[in-house]
Amino acid sequence: MSGRLFLDGDLKLLKDKTIAVIGYGNQGRAQARILKELNGMNVIVGNIRDRGWDQAVSDGFKVYEIAEAAGLADVIMLLVPDEVAPEVYSKEILPSIEKKEFCIIDFASGYNITYGYIRPASNSDIILVAPRMIGAGILDVVMVKGKGYPVLLGVHQDVSGKAWDYALSLAKGIGAFLPGGVAVKSSFEEETLIDLFSEQFLAPSVIASMVASFEVLTEEYGVSPEAALLELYASGEWSEVFQAIAEKGFFKQLRYHSRTSQFGQLTNARKMYSDPELKEKIRETLNKIYDGSFAKEWAIEQTLGNPVFNRLWKIFEECRMSRAEEALYRILKRIE
Ligand code: NDP
Repeated sequence: MSGRLFLDGDLKLLKDKTIAVIGYGNQGRAQARILKELNGMNVIVGNIRDRGWDQAVSDGFKVYEIAEAAGLADVIMLLVPDEVAPEVYSKEILPSIEKKEFCIIDFASGYNITYGYIRPASNSDIILVAPRMIGAGILDVVMVKGKGYPVLLGVHQDVSGKAWDYALSLAKGIGAFLPGGVAVKSSFEEETLIDLFSEQFLAPSVIASMVASFEVLTEEYGVSPEAALLELYASGEWSEVFQAIAEKGFFKQLRYHSRTSQFGQLTNARKMYSDPELKEKIRETLNKIYDGSFAKEWAIEQTLGNPVFNRLWKIFEECRMSRAEEALYRILKRIE
């Protein structure tokens, strides 16, 4: 293994500790269940009184108000949405931490530490164990398939001198090191950069290509909306291609496509890749993340009550592709 990749951690480091999972949602439920059910760790849940609270109770956890759970914990896993985490942390968690001698605070995303929205208490190890997978995916991979998955690790503050070991221990506790899994030594800043980059460059490239392709195909080339949608994404073929990319390798899987397809893909990829504007757009996106201007824009947007966010949703939910999709999916009984 290179010095950046890890395949194991020592669970004993956390065995005698009370772990409070704060936020029983996508990540919280998956991580709490694996820690407890698979690895026998002492896990409690802190949540607001909502469906998540009821779910945690029915999954067999002791559930507390967030401040109370934080007070009982040696390890706090802050697994509420990034937008609300600063307030939850400063109002309900920090006062409890300040009363302790030492605490380990774990994040699943680097965002709030990177941009300074959460200022860590000086008596705490601040660690990052960031799964590269959604919560339901983690539960399926670990609890059903018995496999591991990739996580990025970071340490922002190492009061104990053992913060990296705690991060590895927690990664093991949440099932990351089962066969096929790996932890990459990273940082809060690197995780934030690449996470936001794939959300802000790769995903929008796909969204924009789909919507524009649908419009040109159906409006200028006489293609039926049904044929266009099934070709573009509705058949599910792309999910198989991406699975093959993850399993076999980016270009190795291309050999399984027809030679006509290979030639078409490679000639056009070469043309697009050679266009200097592509890397310039990548740099532009990265700069906005790196210098904090995206984070500032998003913070202002939320303070104003999300006017742009809501307008954008309306534009895309009402676009011609979405309307055609709704009609097709009703016929296919994918939606009611
Ligand atoms: P969720 O949206 O699933 O929310 C987690 C929990 O927080 C829910 O129980 C939610 O309750 C609760 N919550 C919402 N608002 C508040 C509030 N104001 N006060 C207290 N609790 C609140 O979060 P995720 O699991 O998606 O994200 C948690 C962390 O994991 C984030 O840092 C995220 O970046 C990271 N992450 C997420 C991934 C994902 O797959 N989603 C992947 C990798 C990392 P309710 O259900 O009632 O809203």
